[in-house]
Amino acid sequence: MSGRVDFHVHSNKSSDGDYAPAELVGFARDHGMRAISIADHDTVAAYPDVVDDGRRAGVEVIPGIELTTLFGGREFHLLLPLVDWTSPALAKIIEGQTECRMHETRERVAKIQALGFALTMEDIEARSNGAPPLGVKIAQLLLENPENAGNPALERYYRPENKRYAPYMFYGDFFAEGKPAFVPKKFIALVDVLSAAPATGGAPVLSHPGAYFQRTTAEDARVLKAHGLIGLEVYTFYHTPEQTAFYKDMAAGLDLVATAGSDFHGRIKPHVHFGALAEGDYGMVEKLRARRGGAA
Ligand SMILES: [Zn+2]
Ligand SMILES: [Zn+2]
Repeated sequence: MSGRVDFHVHSNKSSDGDYAPAELVGFARDHGMRAISIADHDTVAAYPDVVDDGRRAGVEVIPGIELTTLFGGREFHLLLPLVDWTSPALAKIIEGQTECRMHETRERVAKIQALGFALTMEDIEARSNGAPPLGVKIAQLLLENPENAGNPALERYYRPENKRYAPYMFYGDFFAEGKPAFVPKKFIALVDVLSAAPATGGAPVLSHPGAYFQRTTAEDARVLKAHGLIGLEVYTFYHTPEQTAFYKDMAAGLDLVATAGSDFHGRIKPHVHFGALAEGDYGMVEKLRARRGGAA
């Protein structure tokens, strides 16, 4: 059965998302979409309410989450569409992730303060929608703090031409590996999530395999498939047309389900517009549903 689908949308339950779950469902309805998956970073706080919002709007909401994981020493993001948000196996993963993220945030803030920039844990907690924040969000809050605007070390981030992407620039200059406020990540191992996935009901799909921090190789995908990976997010704004073709072939060769996800957040990713990704189709949902290992 057809109908447009987006498997990868963030709400304001993610620290870096702008729109309430109900607003996103409204956007999906206005775009004539059949289904969306709200896949917030390491949280299912949008559930169950957003499923009811969807029912009222005539848009199917596919329960989801995006987990930050580690594999081969790199950061990999994993979607779990069709997840049971009440699953104890999922709750255990989320609890561990929250602990890691808060620890990472405290270490980052200490390094930022040591560099002479103004930002406190209280600022962050008050302004990240109650969710443990990602690095780019921390950069955004730091740059929004008026106390930092006059700091000569930060001048380039306030130039009009840099403003839109300034949090990403700051991240690259300060939080990336080898930079002055780098903090090593301590997230859950991707293979451990793949082992736990059947108990959560979710169908594990690798997010944006070609993203610069993942650079998923065919060998990575083969190993992950052996551990239970079901799908590959082939269609995403992270990919160039060449990468899309590359991962489409990889999915076909390894018999992984190719999915589509916009990674819409709102203003932190200004180049991603809601509903702009054309390839998502309901047939992808049916394939995932048929293959996942958990409860029906
Ligand atoms: Zn991601
Ligand atoms: Zn995402």
